[in-house]
Amino acid sequence: MANKRVLVTGGAGFIGSHLCEYLLNQGEEVLCLDNFFTGSKENVRHLMGHPRFELIRHDVVEPILLEVDQIYNLACPASPVHYQYNPIKTTKTSVLGAINMLGLAKRVKATILQASTSEVYGDPLVHPQGEDYWGHVNPRGIRSCYDEGKRCAETLFFDYHRQHGLDIKVVRIFNTYGPRMHPQDGRVVSNFIMQSLTGQDITVYGDGRQTRSFCYIDDLVTGLDRMMNHSGDFTGPVNLGNLGEFTILELAEKVIAMTGSKSGIVFKPLPQDDPMQRRPDITLAKERLNWAPAVPLDEGLRKTIAYFRQLPGIC
Ligand code: NAD
Ligand code: UDP
Repeated sequence: MANKRVLVTGGAGFIGSHLCEYLLNQGEEVLCLDNFFTGSKENVRHLMGHPRFELIRHDVVEPILLEVDQIYNLACPASPVHYQYNPIKTTKTSVLGAINMLGLAKRVKATILQASTSEVYGDPLVHPQGEDYWGHVNPRGIRSCYDEGKRCAETLFFDYHRQHGLDIKVVRIFNTYGPRMHPQDGRVVSNFIMQSLTGQDITVYGDGRQTRSFCYIDDLVTGLDRMMNHSGDFTGPVNLGNLGEFTILELAEKVIAMTGSKSGIVFKPLPQDDPMQRRPDITLAKERLNWAPAVPLDEGLRKTIAYFRQLPGIC
């Protein structure tokens, strides 16, 4: 069979760059589209010059005409620091980006996958979070631009599916980490590793008892591929995440121990609406996609720390 032509929006970001690499290794033709807001050419430099790789500078809030078989819609800043920098643009990216990519998928009859998020559950009152839970989201807080933007994108995906018969796939991604996270990204794993390696105090927000479940990037990419290429009519939404649940304080202590750092821990105010607990129920992913993560936190952190250690300016 001929290679598929696959569009990855947000392809020069953390997850997108790993996905582009994976797709090239699978023999696909990859169009990586990005406006370089939080991603960079550096993330895909090793793919440039590959005969099946193409990099397009474009903003998903504007329409684009391309001929593709599959679309992974990943374009959107994911770190609270970055998505709160220009919150109106964040909502536009999710909503107008979804409309433009769905329009493209409709025109060329492509299968389209939306990178949704565990944030659609907000600060959840149900634990662990299954796909049937509708969530507990503040519609007018500082996280709303991201959470509600992603929720509206899901709405658009399911309406395009019902109204126009589009082949849609919706995955809800839980906290994912690994090499090529931006060192100044502001997310907890990159912050703690950078602080440990540079001898700064580790900044724990709140009392550190809030929990997250951390999924290693390679596991996530496999899950994205399984969902996109699932032959049945399974639209999702489906959770993709690791079952291991850790408090933020446990993560801080783990990173300090694994880096052999002398950093101390300082406590900073908890940001508004910061979810107190998060762990996916992945029964559906196991049943429908035969997918479950394989990389435990310690192993993933080891690889991620090794990546951060070799960055310029880190010793
Ligand atoms: P990232 O910030 O590294 O990547 C996002 C990419 O999208 C960047 O390359 C950025 O430049 C690009 N982008 C942003 N706005 C754009 C626009 N208007 N037009 C074109 N490109 C644009 O973040 P990531 O962690 O790689 O996240 C990728 C996707 O996965 C996002 O949609 C995010 O919401 C979703 N997600 C990530 C996580 C996680 O833990 N990493 C969790 C849930 C969902
Ligand atoms: N966090 C922290 N210190 C940091 C960065 C984040 O304690 O330097 C906390 C944050 O308050 C949240 C958790 O770690 O409770 C995960 O934050 P992140 O921004 O990585 O992801 P999200 O909140 O979107 O899940």
